[in-house]
Amino acid sequence: MPRTLVTGGAGFLGSHLCEALLSRGHSVIAMDSLLTGAASNVGHLIANPKFELVDYDVTNYLHVDGELDRILHFASPASPVDYLEMPIHTLKVGALGTHKALGLAKAKGARFLLASTSEVYGDPLEHPQTESYWGNVNPIGVRGVYDEAKRFGEALTMAYHRAHGLETRIVRIFNTYGPRMRAGDGRVLPNFINQALRGEPLTVYGDASQTRSLCYVDDLVAGILALLEGDFVEPVNIGNPDEITIMGLAEEVIAATGTKSEIVTRPLPEDDPKVRQPNIARAREVLGWEPKVPRSVGLGRTIDYFRSLMTDEGKGA
Ligand code: UDP
Repeated sequence: MPRTLVTGGAGFLGSHLCEALLSRGHSVIAMDSLLTGAASNVGHLIANPKFELVDYDVTNYLHVDGELDRILHFASPASPVDYLEMPIHTLKVGALGTHKALGLAKAKGARFLLASTSEVYGDPLEHPQTESYWGNVNPIGVRGVYDEAKRFGEALTMAYHRAHGLETRIVRIFNTYGPRMRAGDGRVLPNFINQALRGEPLTVYGDASQTRSLCYVDDLVAGILALLEGDFVEPVNIGNPDEITIMGLAEEVIAATGTKSEIVTRPLPEDDPKVRQPNIARAREVLGWEPKVPRSVGLGRTIDYFRSLMTDEGKGA
């Protein structure tokens, strides 16, 4: 069975991927600097002899003993709050880390999958976003550290494919949510849910008319694994096209948690995209994939997760 390296394997998406790969029979090495990931995300996998967690920063020279069949490169801060706090590290992991991971894939003859992002489309002038759209990114803006690193990562991945014949895949991940997001990561749903559960006001940024389209993590993982095992080389959007305004999302969280919290307004962060919705025609066509979990169901599971963390906190865990 395949032996697979997941960089960022102790992060939100990485940990779900490790779990899914193990259940499909892979041996899995999760490599993570634990900067934004957490060992507790893979705590339930540690006893599995086919799983290993390596504490390592992939911007350094990468060495893995033995054969490798697949590399999924997911290491990176991914929340705007995180990458604004770690701008240089974000650029380094997206650029140097991707270079190291590609070099390792080439040395091992492994298939390489890059975690790219809807942020390559920037503040999009085409809506919904298709893979053929080249984007509207401010290269010197505060979000540029993430967007441009991911764009560079895509360019480097395609260069390794073209110049070295490396088997590569690129997934453009749209907003994803679910258990194991970090409560304090600053993204919209962890913020809203934790604010709601604590009875604090929900902080909407700007006039909250900006939109996002949120995909439940299990759907995303299914799409990524289909892409990994398929033969399609160009980027594929994976996300849920069910678009909602941020105000609409705040109202849904209030209703789903039953909180008495109010909604308060905070300034809109710089270069915050006004709209975002994936066109998933390509994923449907080449992967036969589409999301299945409606937001009402995914929100319920995510709220239960954050509620259980608070119960643990209350017990002093
Ligand atoms: N947002 C908000 N309140 C929050 C956190 C985020 O209104 O407490 C908004 C943010 O301005 C953006 C959207 O929610 O328009 C999604 O933000 P997030 O940080 O989750 O990710 P992004 O899609 O911007 O990368």
